[in-house]
This record gives sequence, C-alpha cells and structure tokens, in this order.
Amino acid sequence: MSNIYYNSSIYCSSSVPFNISEIDKNFIFPQIDLYYCPECQSPRALYQTFFKVNYKFCSNCLTDFTKSQDQYTCSKNCFVCPECSSNLSISFENHDNNGKSFKFKCVYCEYKFKTSVIYKPQSLTNIINESKKDSFNKLCQDIRNGVLKSEKAEKLSDRTIKNLQLMNKNLTKEMEEPFTIEKYPLPSKLTTKKIVYCLDCKSTLFAPLVENIPPTTNKVLTSFVAIDYLPHISTTKLTENIYLLHFINPLEVKVHFQILISNSDSCTVDITTTDFVLGPKISNLIKTIPIAYLTHSTTQSKSELILRKGGKMYQEATEDNMDDYFEKGANWISIPFAINTESRNIDLPMHVKLRCDNSPQVQLNKISTNYWCVLAIN
Ligand SMILES: [Zn+2]
Ligand SMILES: [Zn+2]
Ligand SMILES: [Zn+2]
Repeated sequence: MSNIYYNSSIYCSSSVPFNISEIDKNFIFPQIDLYYCPECQSPRALYQTFFKVNYKFCSNCLTDFTKSQDQYTCSKNCFVCPECSSNLSISFENHDNNGKSFKFKCVYCEYKFKTSVIYKPQSLTNIINESKKDSFNKLCQDIRNGVLKSEKAEKLSDRTIKNLQLMNKNLTKEMEEPFTIEKYPLPSKLTTKKIVYCLDCKSTLFAPLVENIPPTTNKVLTSFVAIDYLPHISTTKLTENIYLLHFINPLEVKVHFQILISNSDSCTVDITTTDFVLGPKISNLIKTIPIAYLTHSTTQSKSELILRKGGKMYQEATEDNMDDYFEKGANWISIPFAINTESRNIDLPMHVKLRCDNSPQVQLNKISTNYWCVLAIN
C-alpha cells in the first residue's frame, strides 16, 4: 500500500494560474512529504512552511540541550565513530605522575583511537583536539587560531594575508609531501523535535508532544500531514492505453469529489466518471484496498480478490469493455480511462476539488479544497 503515497504527487505552487502545458517539476511533491493547512485549506510543501525547534537532546545520554541555542553536538562524553557513525565505547588507562589517556573503540567496526596522556582534568573534546597530530588538522587549527580568532575588523586584513600566506606555504608543501589526514572520534549530533508552521497563515501544521514523556518517544500533539486528509490518488496500467485511476479516502467522513483531467494537443483523455462520493474509511483494512492492489501473495488478499472479481479480472481490457473495470468500495473508487498520446512518459495534470459535509475530526471542522495533482503515466 505504501507506494500509493509516493504515487500521489501534488503540485504545490503559490503561483496561479497553473500552466498545464508547462509543469514546473520543481513544484511537484510526493503527497507523503506534504502537510495540509487547516486554515488555508491547502496542501503545503516544506518550502511553504517554517519551523521552530522546541526540543533538542542527545539521543545517547538524553541530556536536554534545548536552551543551548548554538549547540549542535553533545558536550557530554558522547562520541560516534568517524567511519560508520556507531557509538564509541570509552575506557581509560593510568600513567605515571597521575597521567591518564583514553581509548575509543567502535562498537560496530574496527575503528580505534587513543588520546595522548593528559595530566590535568579537562573535557574529552579538548583531549581529542589536543591529540590531533596529523598535518591537515594542524593546518586547520592554525587557520582557526588565525582568521577565525580575530575579532577586530581592522586587523582582519593583516591576519587574512598572514593566513593566506600560511595556506599557500602549506599547499606548496603539500605538492611535495601530501597531507596526512587522520580520523578522530566525532561528538554525537543532537536530535531535534520541531514545530512546523504554515508560511502564509502561521497555523501549526505539526507539533510533537514533549512534556512529561521520555525524549526518545515520538508522540504528536498536532499533525496535519497531507496523507491523513487528502485522498491517495494513483494509477495502474491495464493495457497500452487504458489505465485505472484510483482514489482512496483516508478520512472518517464522506467526501464529495469533482475531477478534471486536462487534455492538450499532444494528449487526450477519455474518462466517464468525474463526480463521485467516497464513504468514510472503514476498520476492515482489506476492504479499503482497490482491486488493482490486491495480490496473490497472501491468502487474505487472494481470497478477497476472488470474492470481488472471480475470473473477470483476466479479460483483456479494450476501449469497448473498459467500463467493466469500474469498481467502487466503501472508501475507494477505481475509474478506467483511455489515453491517446504519442509519448511514452507523461505527467498528466488533474484538478481535484473536494469537500466533506461533516467535520472530519475535533481539530478540524471542515475540508474544502481544490488543487492540481500530477499523474505519472508510463
Ligand atoms: Zn496556512
Ligand atoms: Zn550525549
Ligand atoms: Zn565504526
């Protein structure tokens, strides 16, 4: 079933009218990546939203870093492998005169790293930095201490020149003697939880629940994702020029649809059903799957297929008998259509208008929208 979400592509552009002869592919998005704004009553792509981080933590030690604005990695002792990103186990070794060194070992691959011996307590990040002895890291450190440490603007040019000289010298040197680049333990990246808002009306489109739950638990407070509100639209091929157009209603209320497939000079479409009503989603999952998606791979699916269709399924579809392939279930419909075109792969624009009579859920009192989606025919 999941490929249905990817097959549904929606055209999300603020520029109207939509020029059907020139579809800008940059604005076509898989439905699974979209939100549905309850206020604008419109699908929203990521570029039509903005977000605020409302929780930031290390998924390894679970420390909350939400208040540390510019921090993106864990400052506790959490490191990952530079080769495979798995966690690193840490152990230490005692040396003479109260010296200590630390050993990092990847829990998954062969990666190992040992720090130099230190005599004063300091953070593991600092210890690793001080242990970086390869020529490339030394150059990076020189640059950091030079250009990046300079705060006074007037002195920057002097320093920049000095650093450019330094880099030049090193690059010339590299011609003769290539840099050595070692890989060091990397501090763990922080995980964020974000609230997503509509760029136009500032409504909340998605909000995770963060209060009183462990940070690794994913629970949502608000979720207006398009696959929960808009129909899943897909096509399957019957013959060279006859296809089935499937609509599945994900809502728990009845929805009225009006569709329009646009014809162009190079492509004409013959479809008989353009106005229809789909009932609410039902709990019996197998009954919510259009025939074209039922396979012989499970007993349940196979028996449902035979129950619904018998032997008829295997007749060859022609433009004369294609109406026999029309099917309607509780919350879905499969509409046959014939397409006349020379091209093999086309993006067929279809306008979808939908509304429901009753409030789909507590957080949303209506759905009334129209948008363009794009059917990939190949
Ligand atoms: Zn909005
Ligand atoms: Zn951590
Ligand atoms: Zn590793």
